[in-house]
Amino acid sequence: MFRLDGKTVLITAAGQGMGRASAVACAEQGAHVIATDRDPALLSSLSSEHPSIEVRTLDVLDRDAIGVLSQSIDTLDGLFNCAGCVVDGTVLDTSTSDWSASLNLNVMSMVHMLEAFLPGMLQRAQDVGTASVLNMASMASSIKGFTRRAAYGTTKAAVIGLTKAVAADHVQQRLRCNALCPGTVDTPSLRGRIASAADPELAEKNFIARQPMGRLALADDVSPLVVYLLSDASAFVTGQAVSVDGGVTI
Ligand code: NAD
Repeated sequence: MFRLDGKTVLITAAGQGMGRASAVACAEQGAHVIATDRDPALLSSLSSEHPSIEVRTLDVLDRDAIGVLSQSIDTLDGLFNCAGCVVDGTVLDTSTSDWSASLNLNVMSMVHMLEAFLPGMLQRAQDVGTASVLNMASMASSIKGFTRRAAYGTTKAAVIGLTKAVAADHVQQRLRCNALCPGTVDTPSLRGRIASAADPELAEKNFIARQPMGRLALADDVSPLVVYLLSDASAFVTGQAVSVDGGVTI
């Protein structure tokens, strides 16, 4: 595994799912992790599980709170913008409020995190020679279209565009920026989507059927890639949309 000793890494939406698994994986590889989530109850067990995980409540839709948090943090070597949401619908039946919610959480929250933390990370990159941003996209994006994912696919494609723009703007300052594009991952929110389907058993079968490996990903199929992309082992990797999709896009 790639090491993160001496690095401070901030992760959004770290209360459950891939954000949480990534927080634990980064801490296990030596990072000081600032695990944030809007739900403090989900964070409460994280710091007791691992002494190098510090927990902070943060709703990434709250731009002022992002600013306050950034003022209280000295230096970041790594930032993983993980927060995002799925809205079900085609372009014909997605409401204006669902479009706004998707754009705000999936895209604008990352923009606001970058506005707040990028200046410090650029300084850090100048001081130590490297810093790394990772943005959570999805295979459902500019990579591949899926049914009833109009707002989701659009906003996750925007995450890839944002990632490439940041990578291009700051490559000469040694700040790297990549996007992560997972397949279908067994997380609490996926379980919620399955449970709320008209036929949950069929919904689960359909999610599995779109994965050629015949199973859903686990959060820990994804977290090693998070560690790699935040580590110096990926020093020559920037501007990439990195897939971990169990063969969907073969
Ligand atoms: P999840 O959806 O199960 O958990 C999401 C976490 O985000 C929760 O802890 C929740 O409290 C937190 N959260 C929600 N809104 C927030 C906000 N405004 N501010 C701060 N925290 C907030 O986790 P997941 O399924 O691992 O999804 C994480 C990311 O991965 C999302 O961006 C999602 O779009 C993306 N993704 C998920 C899958 C999948 O199949 N699960 C696949 C590809 C990409």
